[in-house]
Amino acid sequence: MRVLVFNAGSSSLKFGLFDGDRQILKGSFDRFREGGCDVAIDGHRGRAPHGDLAAAIAAVPGVLAERGHAAIDAVGHRFAHGGPDFTGPALIDETVIAAIEAQTPLAPLHNPAMLQAMHLARSLWPDLPQVAVFDTSFHLTNPARATTYAVPAAWRAAGLRRYGFHGTSHKYVAHRAAEALGRPLTDLRIVSVHLGNGASACAVQFGASMDSSMGMTPLEGLVMGTRSGDVDPGAFGFLHRQLGLDISAIEAALYAESGLKALAGSSDMRDVEDRAASGDADAQLAINLYAYRARKYIGAYAAAMGGLDAVVFTGGIGENSASMRRRICDGMGFLGLMLDDDLNRAPDLTDLKAPQIQAQGSRVAVIVTETAEQLMIARELRELLARPRPLPRAIPVAVSGRHVHLTADAVAALFGPGYRLTEAAPLRQPGNWVAAERIALEGPKGRLERVAILGPLRPRVQIEVSRTDSFALGLDAPVRDSGQLDGTPRVRLIGPAGVLDSDGLIVAARHIHTNPADAAAMGLADGDMVDVEVQGGGSRGLVFGRTLVRVSPQVVTEMHIDTDEANAAGIAGGAEGALVQDVHARPVA
Ligand code: ADP
Repeated sequence: MRVLVFNAGSSSLKFGLFDGDRQILKGSFDRFREGGCDVAIDGHRGRAPHGDLAAAIAAVPGVLAERGHAAIDAVGHRFAHGGPDFTGPALIDETVIAAIEAQTPLAPLHNPAMLQAMHLARSLWPDLPQVAVFDTSFHLTNPARATTYAVPAAWRAAGLRRYGFHGTSHKYVAHRAAEALGRPLTDLRIVSVHLGNGASACAVQFGASMDSSMGMTPLEGLVMGTRSGDVDPGAFGFLHRQLGLDISAIEAALYAESGLKALAGSSDMRDVEDRAASGDADAQLAINLYAYRARKYIGAYAAAMGGLDAVVFTGGIGENSASMRRRICDGMGFLGLMLDDDLNRAPDLTDLKAPQIQAQGSRVAVIVTETAEQLMIARELRELLARPRPLPRAIPVAVSGRHVHLTADAVAALFGPGYRLTEAAPLRQPGNWVAAERIALEGPKGRLERVAILGPLRPRVQIEVSRTDSFALGLDAPVRDSGQLDGTPRVRLIGPAGVLDSDGLIVAARHIHTNPADAAAMGLADGDMVDVEVQGGGSRGLVFGRTLVRVSPQVVTEMHIDTDEANAAGIAGGAEGALVQDVHARPVA
């Protein structure tokens, strides 16, 4: 499967094309400005005429076609904020779009560009499945003690809580670290340290994120390129009173004028390291503070998880700055963490390698690896699309009491020549009705009175009873699909004007009537056998196995069961069924 992944920002568009886990194209457009932008495709840099995100996205199909990659199967989109509900990737449809739009106040700087990219991609590839993957999802396993701010209840009710970001990266590198260590992720307590332009640390305890340094927004936590990380919230009142700054000015400065940029005059760690090396005291403080904050979080997370098995460094700084890794790890011998300077100096990160750089005897492993968020998005997309589709709506369950379908000849025999049945009430399936008239059924053991007649008339008499009814009649009615009547027992039909002995006595096999549109939405085809869970009253639910799917135009989606089945499931009035996911849509043997 070929998956195109987009990571859109307000001033850049990164994209990657993956065939399985293999990246076959890597591109970026950035520094959008009047009349053009910078472009890099598979490492070749140049200038492009696209002045904004929309123009850049519109150029992507051309880039793919030029390189012979026009055929793609799906599109993945990175989203910064998914709020509290997106615990994993989501197949994009109108409902998902509305839910993402509703989260925009939580990520006003990030989600809008990502939404714009998603809308443009949907218009460019309207027929392809598109999937949203959220930076926040991985952290939704964090316990309340990690996500709650100790603030007034009304603020929390308005949505103020910690989320955490970089989740795709933390999840990927934690998995990669476990792989490199040859141990199950579920056995490990890992601190993942992502140090790029944005930076965060994450406590991954036995495979799940349990805390991370970014909070409600990507401002909290570590020192970043232009973001402050942790600041005393008391500072805001002080800044307002002393400097007359309003909220938006403070917020803008914390996002864009703080961090390394504020401390050392550059947001780029390479510059800061160079200046520090040439004796610049501001740059030296910036580096010390940067490392100290990261070390503090690692120590805190070791305490939070009750131990530490591995620290993983990633992101531009985490991957490339040996001296920053050294500074962060200094003084952590008390935790059993010791770095090997030779291994730390130039670890080989090509081809997504994840080398270990701890010293012999270090109880804690230290791993460096390149983050691969786009690869992780492509993987999550593939896993999502491979999963059976969730049922878009519940299936109404209708309980069929005993009834007969008659031919014109049978009506004449039972009610007299030329008799026309009276349509008493329509059934849910268009064109079907129940007649006002009733008949009786008689077998060797007994009689069933007031049996319903369903219209319209059919070419063959069919008598549908429950298993219990068939015992009352003293006949052995087989379980059959409608119309499969050969070899079925004969039973006597008794009308006001005469009797008729006819075969066609069956116990109707349970089935789902559905139309092509609903069937497609449920991922079902005519003839599929599915298992359906039905919740009855009095906690008497049941899973009905081997339920036949019958697709035909015009019908209303509805599952039909008989009275024995309804009683067994505790269904009195209406009920709804849900497809059981893992045994979904097996072809008929
Ligand atoms: P983003 O978060 O935007 O994806 P990156 O992960 O690419 O950013 O990280 C960018 C940061 O990595 C910059 O501060 C850059 O200076 C730093 N960086 C890249 N290479 C090196 C290096 N060799 N030494 C130190 N810092 C580096």
